[in-house]
Amino acid sequence: MEKQDTLIYKKLIDKLCANNYLLRDEYLFLIKNRDNCSNYLFKNASKVREKIYGKEIYIRGLIEFTNYCKNDCFYCGIRRSNKKIERYRLSKEEILKCAHEGYLLGFRTFVLQGGEDIYYTDEVLIDIISTIKSKYPDCAITISLGERSFDSYKNLREAGADRYLLRHETSNKLHYQKLHPREMSFENRIACLQNLKQLGYQVGCGFMVGSPFQIDEMLADELIFLKKVKPHMVGIGPFISHKDTPFCNKTSGTTELTLFMLGLIRLTLPNVLLPATTALATIDSNGREKAIIAGANVIMPNLSPINVRKNYMLYDNKLYLREESAQYINDLKSKMKAIDCTISTTRGDYKGDV
Ligand code: SAH
Repeated sequence: MEKQDTLIYKKLIDKLCANNYLLRDEYLFLIKNRDNCSNYLFKNASKVREKIYGKEIYIRGLIEFTNYCKNDCFYCGIRRSNKKIERYRLSKEEILKCAHEGYLLGFRTFVLQGGEDIYYTDEVLIDIISTIKSKYPDCAITISLGERSFDSYKNLREAGADRYLLRHETSNKLHYQKLHPREMSFENRIACLQNLKQLGYQVGCGFMVGSPFQIDEMLADELIFLKKVKPHMVGIGPFISHKDTPFCNKTSGTTELTLFMLGLIRLTLPNVLLPATTALATIDSNGREKAIIAGANVIMPNLSPINVRKNYMLYDNKLYLREESAQYINDLKSKMKAIDCTISTTRGDYKGDV
């Protein structure tokens, strides 16, 4: 490679570090030439992560409490048309048991995630959320249950929910329509994110890397979108095909592109909470560590009862044992130590202006 070229990449990354912002075409240029500058990007992203969050990696206990879903997203293994999976719902008592176990293991954030399951009305959820909150007032509760009405989000917030994860999946409307059936609306998804922000949630959005029909230009647009929305958290992971979905034959996303996007996100939103996702660990056995080196600072081990984990298969071969398992927190601790990081057992709140 010409020395001159190296200089251009370096200059752009330096500019991103200084301004936390690039023009769309500049992002695109870096994405297209990522082979030549990923190490320099990761070095800077790690530095920024350390400046803001120190060496601490935040953990969240993920409770996947229902795999019933009324939606039919083309990429997702728990879509309603998938008749091959065994459906389950956890009772309030089962969810509380997961939280209790998580609390003893040191978790101070619980993420209640599931499909869009109409069984969990506001009334049912308010009871679950307020009970967890009264038993563990020092813990944060994150909800990730897809699209609900403003009033529903308000009710859950008032019951004690602190954070909400709702990946927008793509910020391009036409692309959104290629990933979802007609009855799902891009506008509604974005409106949900705005409503959540307005209600004072710490909000997480995000997208899949390498989802079908995604092109580099769209990834550059994602960074512009994130800069505008200013989420507290951004969840990204590679798309991985699932054998019983319409996208069964689509190519999965890659580790290298996911890592590069993590690095760009860290420098664009320096304070953001950025998880090293299970999807990345599923396609790369060192994915978790690589993500942290690229700028991530959150890990979300699984706290669901072991016997249901295999049924929350969003994509093929989704990991749920070993380091993905909350019960293996000690293994995770040593893995983090090996990359000079530590696991934090605090709530792990967003550091920055809200
Ligand atoms: N029903 C909730 C939670 C969805 S599951 C919601 O709508 O927000 C959490 C995330 O898993 C999704 O937002 C999606 O980005 C991701 N996911 C689903 N199927 C996937 C696949 N095949 N590959 C990678 N990630 C996938």
